[in-house]
Amino acid sequence: MSHIAENIKAVEAKISAAAQRSGRKREDILLLAVSKTQTVEVIQQAVECGLTSLGENKVQEIMDKYEPMGESVHWHLIGHLQTNKVKYVVDKVDMIHSVESLKLANEIEKRAAAKGVVMDILVEVNIANEESKFGISPKEAETFIRELSTKEHLRVRGLMTVAPFVENSEENREYFRQMRQLQVDINGKKIDNIVMDVLSMGMTGDYEVAIEEGATIVRVGTGIFGERDYSNREK
Ligand SMILES: *Cc1c(COP(=O)(O)O)cnc(C)c1O
Repeated sequence: MSHIAENIKAVEAKISAAAQRSGRKREDILLLAVSKTQTVEVIQQAVECGLTSLGENKVQEIMDKYEPMGESVHWHLIGHLQTNKVKYVVDKVDMIHSVESLKLANEIEKRAAAKGVVMDILVEVNIANEESKFGISPKEAETFIRELSTKEHLRVRGLMTVAPFVENSEENREYFRQMRQLQVDINGKKIDNIVMDVLSMGMTGDYEVAIEEGATIVRVGTGIFGERDYSNREK
């Protein structure tokens, strides 16, 4: 077995165990393979193990890998998206996880309308209020989502966060819990067109805790592909 296949097996076992501990079904959790900086050949190994949903944080990398990877994979944009790059991704990705401004939402709406598609999006929340992170504050979330709810070519599917980098994943449990509570609270407002069933949270260091607290998408890069080599990357 290749080391990627072994890594995936180990991650799968941990996902199943975390789901079981919290009384959840494995099928309700998507393992998104974060393939940034990885080559098409390497990503193909993960696809062969059944991981067909891939996460990238740069538009350029999706553009470069889109044709070679072919039709059988699903791309998710998980990183910060500049308005001027929206036009390149609306017809390529299944979901944009990183919507955090009205300006960006308006551009996605415009470009999705032009292509005749409805874009699934997540609202990025800066749950720990970190200076260095993108995302709206939890307090702004309801108002922001009400604004998005009127846009015909956006479908708000849920919330996403990049939790703090911590040594001990237990330190993030409270943040994951707050994300879940925010989702429940906003769903409780019964905003027209808004039923949020997706919570994208948890990375290599903390996905098990995230699952225990309700994550429906975990974004795992290093845990699958090993340490990233950024020298492979063009920009
Ligand atoms: C790189 C990245 C990940 C994956 O991080 P790992 O720690 O390698 O699992 C998840 N989410 C986002 C937004 C990322 O940029």
